[in-house]
Amino acid sequence: MHSDGTESPAQVMAAAHRNGLRTAALTDHDTTSGWAEAAEAATSLGMTFVPGMELSARHDWRSVHVLAYLIDPDDPDLRAMTDRIRSSRLDRARVMADRISRDYDLAWEDIVAQTGQDATVGRPHIADALVARGLVRDRAEAFSSILSPGGDYYVALYAPDPVTAVELVVGAGGVPVIAHPAGRAGLLPEPLMERMLQAGLAGFELGHRENMPEATRVLRRLSAERDLIVTGSSDYHGLGKPNQPGENTTDDEMVARIFERATGSAPVHP
Ligand code: AMP
Repeated sequence: MHSDGTESPAQVMAAAHRNGLRTAALTDHDTTSGWAEAAEAATSLGMTFVPGMELSARHDWRSVHVLAYLIDPDDPDLRAMTDRIRSSRLDRARVMADRISRDYDLAWEDIVAQTGQDATVGRPHIADALVARGLVRDRAEAFSSILSPGGDYYVALYAPDPVTAVELVVGAGGVPVIAHPAGRAGLLPEPLMERMLQAGLAGFELGHRENMPEATRVLRRLSAERDLIVTGSSDYHGLGKPNQPGENTTDDEMVARIFERATGSAPVHP
């Protein structure tokens, strides 16, 4: 991964292959820089590679992740937005590090040491630095304590509103799907979802361990009524999360619909 997973794109594809997957996507936060390595690794293992990205968005205080399958990686508007998000992520990580270092023995260099070259910096890298310093046990503890949005050290990152995010993905020929849309934060407000659908939102990632059953049922009904695309994915992060490749999958019919709808880039077959 080239964002906040602990494995390289090739290792992620190898893990998918070990777990029996025939098709796998790489959806790093706000970057496509891992595609070439992942495509090479996946196809050499006989798998189809689906290029993707997870675009950061924000609605009021809450972060919304828009999966962007088969986008044109050189689309200028989308590139400008991801450049802006990534640079703001870096500034934000520095401010959070400053705040944390007032109370804990943590330096900016500790975070840099946890961040791969060209990686999209996020709280997971700060979490890894806190773990390396022995200040917390693991990422989960870091997220529920020092890095929590309610805490003194948290800084929100810049991200476009979810409708703009969908427009950008559609403009880049991609297929936008809301990631883990039924998580603990609850469903997005209906009018917002409606505006996202009007803008070209293709569907929802309903197979994800963070989705809650009742909210998932609501979106499943909506998806059936509106003939939307429904996906499932593991959100594998290597050692960064317990998620395992293949714990959720996307039906062949839905994969085919994503392939048909996209004009930005193509799946890479073995
Ligand atoms: P950020 O975008 O920098 O605010 O960080 C959010 C990212 O951290 C999410 O996209 C997840 O990949 C990851 N994350 C959130 N909560 C946890 C957790 N409890 N354990 C590990 N990773 C997490």
